[in-house]
Amino acid sequence: MMTVQASADVVIVGGGIEGAAIAWALTRKGVCNVLVLERATIGSGGTGRSSGIIRCHYGVPSLAVMAWHGVQLFTHAAEILGVADGVGFEQVGYIVGVGPGDAAALAANVEAAAAVGIDTRLADPAEVAELWPAADLADFAAFAYEPRGGYGDAYRTCHAYLAAARQGGVRVRQGAPVARILTSGERAGGGERAGGGERAGGGERADGGERFDRGAGPGGRAIGVELADGSRIAAGTVVLAAGVWSAALAAGVGVDLPLRAQREQILLVAPGAPVGNVPVLSDLVGLQYVRPERSGDLLVGNSDHSRPQWVDPDAYPGAADPQYVERAVGRFAHRFPGLPEVALSSSYAGCYDVTPDYNPIISATPVDRLFVAAGFSGHGFTISVAVGELVADLVVDGDSSHPLIPAADFRLSRFAENAPLVSPHPYAAAGQMR
Ligand SMILES: Cc1cc2nc3c(=O)[nH]c(=O)nc-3n(C[C@H](O)[C@H](O)[C@H](O)COP(=O)(O)OP(=O)(O)OC[C@H]3O[C@@H](n4cnc5c(N)ncnc54)[C@H](O)[C@@H]3O)c2cc1C
Repeated sequence: MMTVQASADVVIVGGGIEGAAIAWALTRKGVCNVLVLERATIGSGGTGRSSGIIRCHYGVPSLAVMAWHGVQLFTHAAEILGVADGVGFEQVGYIVGVGPGDAAALAANVEAAAAVGIDTRLADPAEVAELWPAADLADFAAFAYEPRGGYGDAYRTCHAYLAAARQGGVRVRQGAPVARILTSGERAGGGERAGGGERAGGGERADGGERFDRGAGPGGRAIGVELADGSRIAAGTVVLAAGVWSAALAAGVGVDLPLRAQREQILLVAPGAPVGNVPVLSDLVGLQYVRPERSGDLLVGNSDHSRPQWVDPDAYPGAADPQYVERAVGRFAHRFPGLPEVALSSSYAGCYDVTPDYNPIISATPVDRLFVAAGFSGHGFTISVAVGELVADLVVDGDSSHPLIPAADFRLSRFAENAPLVSPHPYAAAGQMR
């Protein structure tokens, strides 16, 4: 049997939507000798459990711009990604409603988003009532509306990114758990130098620039990875996009990623009467979000992060807890008195990979040529295309190519510096999730 190639210019650890988007973005920058290593199957982490809501309503301006890039991609996915039937984007619109204490912040966020070209505006209750006739809107003070938002399918999008990446030459290995990252000082190829060159990464380099030849940083330099079966793969650059599992791999090379797994429970509710293609409703009074499913059910998710449930991402209850269901159904009944005959169809749970400021880490690390894209804290789907581009920029050029998406916003060091990435107009009710 032929042995698999044991080197790549860039090894990406994790075959979720971020790893896939990064792989595709690298090919568009001419970096094609890329290997994606996935411990299980593609999209089997948070990606496969995503609610897929597509919104640009972020208080952090760079995130709003990144999400807007996502809207363009999802809208034109068939042409851009070459997938005939698109990626499952349902452009039903997105509405966020807030109570009186958050109305000023909502207006400020809408103004800031509109100023960078995002199609968003305030909506009055009559307009929202027409879009969502079954809802009681009495306790909302203000609404924002994004007609181009909606929901998509993170799993399909992940596969579409990877299909495009493969066209560019990217290789993908499933069932390939990475046990540790290798750094300079140890040999990437074990007994034999993997990749056949004098150094890890083979003869070619991911960035083509001087940076690769620079001396290793204080944390050494990433030179490849070792798989759970003991085999080694040499690489000029390692990108860690393994969701919440990134923390353990980073810790192995002395890099502290402040990530925790926050369990989230999702309900699928049969509404009892057809509701039509209603917009996504993000309810920051009742602290839940609701969107239609193609099946006719409604997907109901949680926006109350006041008491997060921290869990082991490899061992947590996979269905919703009865108390949670009771609370969520109560909130639902309050919001939708026009749907008195609801029934629970099914439920499941997934984990957000949460950072202390609920914003991602997309960053170089103290280990030279080791980059990380993790900690998406429940909003990594919409921004994924921009995440891929930012990581490709960091890998190849060392900085963001987009003036409205400063790399510094997402730097790992912000936590040690006590300079979290926060919204200038946060919502009292929703913390930093918006
Ligand atoms: C319930 C839920 C609802 C969500 N709703 C939304 C939403 O509405 N809108 C939105 O924008 N975002 C949403 N998100 C967030 C979004 O889905 C995630 O941010 C995104 O999917 C994360 O992608 P990822 O590639 O970073 O991580 P993951 O999808 O978790 O992928 C990481 C991959 O790394 C692999 N891996 C782990 N360890 C190793 C290893 N040692 N070696 C090799 N591979 C490894 C895993 O198997 C996994 O496949 C939601 C998430 C959840 C859980």
